[in-house]
Amino acid sequence: MSNMWTIGSILTWTTQYFSGKGIDSARLDAEILLSHVLQKERIYLYAHYDEPLNGPELAAYRELVKKRASRLSVAHILGQRSFMGFDFTINRHVLVPRPETEMLVETVMEDVPTDGTASFLDLGTGSGAIVLSLLALRPHCTGTGVDISADALAVARENGEKLGLTERVTWLESDLFAAVPPASYDWILSNPPYLTKEDMQHLEPEVRYDPPQALFGGDDGLELYRRIAAGAAAYLKENGCCAVEAGAGQSQAIARIFTETGAFTLKKIVKDYGGIERVVVCQRKEC
Ligand code: GLN
Repeated sequence: MSNMWTIGSILTWTTQYFSGKGIDSARLDAEILLSHVLQKERIYLYAHYDEPLNGPELAAYRELVKKRASRLSVAHILGQRSFMGFDFTINRHVLVPRPETEMLVETVMEDVPTDGTASFLDLGTGSGAIVLSLLALRPHCTGTGVDISADALAVARENGEKLGLTERVTWLESDLFAAVPPASYDWILSNPPYLTKEDMQHLEPEVRYDPPQALFGGDDGLELYRRIAAGAAAYLKENGCCAVEAGAGQSQAIARIFTETGAFTLKKIVKDYGGIERVVVCQRKEC
């Protein structure tokens, strides 16, 4: 990279370089990394295409490009990821929040009005992205985020503080329901690990930086759903709902796991923007 680089030319170059490394989101990633170095919004890049980069900017950018080319994700390089419009701190102890998980949050928001007072239990909260973005967008709601990993909870707690939500959220170190005190929630939410043994053999390079504990859902990927379905009714109000993220092709099996407990009816299955049945909502029957 010479000193003749402009914002426009270096983005073009990096896009080709990243594409050659098998990175799908090459252009977007280049823009995010460059806007980070320049401490500007992405939109700035478009309005300053011909602006030259100075030596320190180029050097800093080059470091980030090297990391991304080694297939470290942008989220891990920057230590943060945007989810539902909020910036979440992430590290190797939590699953990087995925765009498709926003569908879970949006599905719940459809049923909880802006001034609603629902309570949420988020199982396997990780960075806290699900419960915290819901609390940020629904200012009268409260939530509990549960994780088996104390290291993950430290990240969630930090995110809760940054979003100013500490008053309305409780963090609990627990293997699913094991250490959750008896309570009746309006919603149980989870994006549990759901990859199969087979899936784990074929992870994209970036996904290898996510904790395996947050990915692997047992041989058939459905083990955590079975455990959640078995325990959920005891922690839900009558007519309360359990909304879970599903892996591709898993939604029908998950719905059956819940309905076969006898305590739930299937309320809805919601597709993500890629047309995959991504969110399964089951409702606790009246007693
Ligand atoms: N969606 C994740 C992936 O694509 C898997 C996350 C999970 O198991 N909940 O790797």
